[in-house]
Amino acid sequence: MGVLRVDELRKSYGDVRAVDGMSFDVERGELFGFLGPNGAGKTTTIRSLTGQIVPDEGTIDVLGTDPTTAPIETRTRVGILPEQATPPSFLTPREYLEFVGDVRDLDAVVVADGIDRWAERLGFESKLETLHTDLSRGQQQKVMIAQAFLHEPELVLIDEPLANLDPLVQEQVKQFLTSYAAADNAVFVSTHNIDVAADICTRVGIVADGKIVAERSVADETSDDLLETFLDHVD
Ligand code: ATP
Repeated sequence: MGVLRVDELRKSYGDVRAVDGMSFDVERGELFGFLGPNGAGKTTTIRSLTGQIVPDEGTIDVLGTDPTTAPIETRTRVGILPEQATPPSFLTPREYLEFVGDVRDLDAVVVADGIDRWAERLGFESKLETLHTDLSRGQQQKVMIAQAFLHEPELVLIDEPLANLDPLVQEQVKQFLTSYAAADNAVFVSTHNIDVAADICTRVGIVADGKIVAERSVADETSDDLLETFLDHVD
């Protein structure tokens, strides 16, 4: 069953057509890569999916919700990890994740269990009571991943998950995203990194000029194949 469906989405800023006929579906079990160069319309699409901006035209279905008319409902059901987001410096991971649980109106016991489980799974359990100012960028990114996954969402939207992470943390995050999608969830990853898309995604939509211009199942494509397709479609 489709968990994310976008049909003929359009959004302009003045004369700039940021999104121009964007259509795609994401199913359970998929790690879908939204691969495109700077300015292709990826961020504008993600902001439409999370209800931060209202598109000019088109329809969006996110886990049966419409972010255009019910953004709060959409945001409480999906997991969202924006690009370059960092946790508040004046809180510890535990305090921040408790706050996120409150905002999502989750049961306190579920939140407490979730914090311990995700900290252990992502390997920051020894840092739960340390202020974020004293954590490395990689540790902060793990906390941001934990906030996106705290309520075990069936769909997670992630913008550039591996930016500024060292190779070891990149590998850990890649493995984690792969296993989460494989457990009958859907993970949507926006990136301009072809190697990342070829490495972790099950299917890739290549984005240019505000729409998907090609789609590839990654199972039998190498990053060279994907690069060739990318260069065929992107100026
Ligand atoms: P990047 O990878 O650089 O983040 P992107 O694929 O996410 O790029 P968008 O940020 O969606 O692309 O931008 C698409 C187009 O819309 C670009 O030409 C951009 O300059 C323009 N744009 C985006 N936001 C605005 C805005 N608030 N006002 C005017 N133009 C905008």
